[in-house]
Amino acid sequence: MSLQAKNFYKIWPSITLIIGLLLSALSGWFTYQHYVEKENLRFNLKSEEIALLVRARMTAYEQVLKSGVALFKASDNVYRNEWAIFVKEHKLNENFKGIQGFGYSEVVYPQNRQEHEERIRKEGFTDFKIHPKGERKLYTSIIYLEPFDKRNIKAFGYDMFSEQVRRVAMTKAMQTGEATLSGKITLVQESNTDIQAGFLMYLPVYKKGFKLDTPKNRALAIQGFVYAPFRANDLMNGILGTMFTNIDFEIYDENSISKKNILYTSRINDNNKPILYKKMNVTMNGRTWPLIFKTHNISESENIYIMFLIPGLFLVLTFLLYFLLISLIKTEENAVLIAKKATKELKNSEERLRYALDGAGDGLWDWNLVTNEVFFSKRWKEMLGFAENELDSTLDEWNNRIHPEDLEQVYADRKAHIEGKSDTYINEHRVKCKDGSYEWMLDRGIIVSRNAEGRPLRMVGSHSDISKRKQSELKIAEYLQIIDKNVISATTDLSGKILQVSQAFCNISGYSKNELLGKNHNIVRHKDMPDAIFKELWETIQNDNVWEGEIKNRHKDGSAYWVDATISPVKNEKGETISYAAIRHDITDKKRIEELSVTDRLTQLYNRVKLDDLFTMQLASAGRYKTNFSVIIIDIDHFKSINDTWGHQAGDDVLKEFATIIKNNIRETDFAGRWGGEEFLILASETDLKGAIKLSEKLRNVISLFKFSFAGDKTASFGVSSYHAGDDEKTMIKRADDALYRAKENGRNRVEAEEYN
Ligand code: GH3
Ligand code: MG
Ligand code: MG
Repeated sequence: MSLQAKNFYKIWPSITLIIGLLLSALSGWFTYQHYVEKENLRFNLKSEEIALLVRARMTAYEQVLKSGVALFKASDNVYRNEWAIFVKEHKLNENFKGIQGFGYSEVVYPQNRQEHEERIRKEGFTDFKIHPKGERKLYTSIIYLEPFDKRNIKAFGYDMFSEQVRRVAMTKAMQTGEATLSGKITLVQESNTDIQAGFLMYLPVYKKGFKLDTPKNRALAIQGFVYAPFRANDLMNGILGTMFTNIDFEIYDENSISKKNILYTSRINDNNKPILYKKMNVTMNGRTWPLIFKTHNISESENIYIMFLIPGLFLVLTFLLYFLLISLIKTEENAVLIAKKATKELKNSEERLRYALDGAGDGLWDWNLVTNEVFFSKRWKEMLGFAENELDSTLDEWNNRIHPEDLEQVYADRKAHIEGKSDTYINEHRVKCKDGSYEWMLDRGIIVSRNAEGRPLRMVGSHSDISKRKQSELKIAEYLQIIDKNVISATTDLSGKILQVSQAFCNISGYSKNELLGKNHNIVRHKDMPDAIFKELWETIQNDNVWEGEIKNRHKDGSAYWVDATISPVKNEKGETISYAAIRHDITDKKRIEELSVTDRLTQLYNRVKLDDLFTMQLASAGRYKTNFSVIIIDIDHFKSINDTWGHQAGDDVLKEFATIIKNNIRETDFAGRWGGEEFLILASETDLKGAIKLSEKLRNVISLFKFSFAGDKTASFGVSSYHAGDDEKTMIKRADDALYRAKENGRNRVEAEEYN
């Protein structure tokens, strides 16, 4: 598209506006023409009607005057009362509006003037005289004028011939014998208020027996005039009556259209230029009246607004269309601008992205989600060992290169981003190279454009080779697995609740991870471990120190295992202790060997070596803390006879039974061991002589009541000694041995205490 064609649409609103305005003007003009034509027709019709009415009315008046003339023709003389009756019958006020009266004026020659005046005076009008005063060649005298009221009486005796306008009309009437209208006059009857223009109509009455063939003969035969005075306004109002019209009209006297000659105007003080104007000459009774018709306002019977309706509608529609087109163009232009700007921004950001990623050695992909075409950058392909012109630009090509085991997660991660559930698409997966091997890639992408409904159109992203990192991660994971399998480790929170345990921990304790997590660590505590040890442990780690020691733990099945534990506090970056970590190793075997070395094989009591150790510890403790401790030596009475009677094995069995009896009847803090042959030693810690004698008596009694296998009833003798300052093992054993000797001497099955002085 050329630039011109491209921008052509921009002038459409202007074209529309121009056409619309033209159409509006045209329709306005046509409407106006139609209206004016109609109005003209109305005006003409109305004017004709008015002119016709005026003419008809004047003709009617003429008829009235003619009937008056006929009255004179019919008799020698017409008396005053006859005239009055005649006029009354015509009902002037009702039938002939505007007529002021109906009169008869008699022609009087100067020689007859006096006789005339006297005759009228004789009728009772004593002041009667022809007026105005003055000597004239000919007089006319109004003798009858009905109604003979206050107004008309002013005209009684008036010589109309003395005034020029009247004389002209009267002369004309006299000479032609026809009804004649006068020019504009002011009636003599007019009072001072409401003075109107007036005129008169004359009809001649001739003397009987005269020739009337020529104007001259008619002048000789004249006897008088039947006449009527008119007030123009009253007359016209009477003619028009209540006829409604918006037409104004004026009547002028003769052809001179001037203010001086105006007979009648329907509109006073009007200087406005009329819309329609018409002049019409009405000729009657020897006179021409120009009638001027005017109209100043449009007919009210027509709805003037209709005239503006159609062009108005056109105008409104035109402007609506114009603004609609303008706004459409504006919207489109804005859209184009925004699109251009967005494209430019996108291009810029793309270039930046490409630059940055090429620098970082990453491959780029650009996925059209509508066509499923995927552009792979040169670097992307290189990373997989391909040349730039290799590989199809398709989604299938891409998906088929992803390791089947990773594909499901790739799909899920892409979907999550496309559906707006993640800000970016990010996934680590293996991609097949040209040589068939797989490389680990970190794939990242983002939707860069969506359509109006939010449907994604395009997604771009990058590929980074993470094979090396993945390899080391796998190595670490392997090591971690080895550690997990072999190192007994656990982490607890500050209250001792287990947060994490290794597989090795699970294996040694017999519990699964699920059974351990969230439980208190004392789930593996063995009852043999004294409270004191744990008290010390907690104190140590709570004071930010590392505790190390050997702990006997309880397996899920109840058996025991030994660990060498190192427990240390774990701190966060603020230096606060957040948990405790323990690493242990299994020392059960070592512990077993140790146990064996201190245990008498036959009786499972401590052996002589261990007894010597314990003796030393007791002596040291008693020396340091000034506590008591006592020793008891037990010798089985006449043991030899068992061997002799039932054999050595039976003797061994009795020894085992003796050991069990001793073990079950001493306190936890006492130590029992085999002192030699059929002799036992008890180290009773924190026990004085009296307590030791009491313990001995208890044992002596239990033994004497016990039924031994083979041997049945057997007894034992007891020798007891207690610690005194300065004692050693030798001195204490010596005193106990001496006491035992005395027990034997004194009859056996006896307890004897030391003699100390
Ligand atoms: P008494 O002590 O009452 O004077 O008489 P006795 O028979 O017990 O005498 P003595 O204490 O001297 O006896 C020791 C005997 O115990 C000698 C030995 O045969 C026997 N003897 C010592 N050790 C064992 C052993 O481990 N097994 C068996 N079966 N016999 C043993
Ligand atoms: Mg003995
Ligand atoms: Mg003995």
